Amino acid sequence: MSAAITLVRGDITRQRVDALVNAANSSLLGGGGVDGAIHRRGGPAILTECRALRASRYGRGLPTGEAVATTAGALDARWVIHTVGPVWSAGEDRSHLLVSCHRASLRVADELGARTVAFPAISTGVYRWPLDDAARIAVETVRDTATAVEEVRFVLFDQPAHEVFAARIG
Ligand code: ADP
Repeated sequence: MSAAITLVRGDITRQRVDALVNAANSSLLGGGGVDGAIHRRGGPAILTECRALRASRYGRGLPTGEAVATTAGALDARWVIHTVGPVWSAGEDRSHLLVSCHRASLRVADELGARTVAFPAISTGVYRWPLDDAARIAVETVRDTATAVEEVRFVLFDQPAHEVFAARIG
């Protein structure tokens, strides 16, 4: 089975879901955009676990396209799934890495037993991936991935992004 896809306009840190996906960077030590918002609202417990992951499994950072879970701290969720999207490149096709982020996040969600998972538009902020292409890859990948997750909720921060995702979801 693949997950049902839903769409909301809003702030991912305000979602009540089992797991929310963080558009992290490979340091796992926080950043701007979604990452900054998750750590701000989720509180220090998330960073503490991220530091422990750096000290154990991911001494060189979380590789692009992979995903790992921590507590969600004070957020209205049980877990944060951190994944590292690819930086957009005009000269190199990195779309397999954006596919991999979505697949790996769903795999981790399945391992956790999460049934509802919120995704931001990974790589479309600081990493500059063109929104329409990112939406196509995100929606196609979720549709093509077998998972026990029942709902994948794409959470778009602004109206233009919401419209682009809505067009892709159909
Ligand atoms: P990346 O580094 O993967 O590009 P960003 O966090 O910079 O990640 O941006 C990813 C997308 O998330 C952008 O489209 C940005 O507008 C959006 N965004 C930023 N903050 C939030 C938030 N609190 N909730 C949902 N989406 C957000």
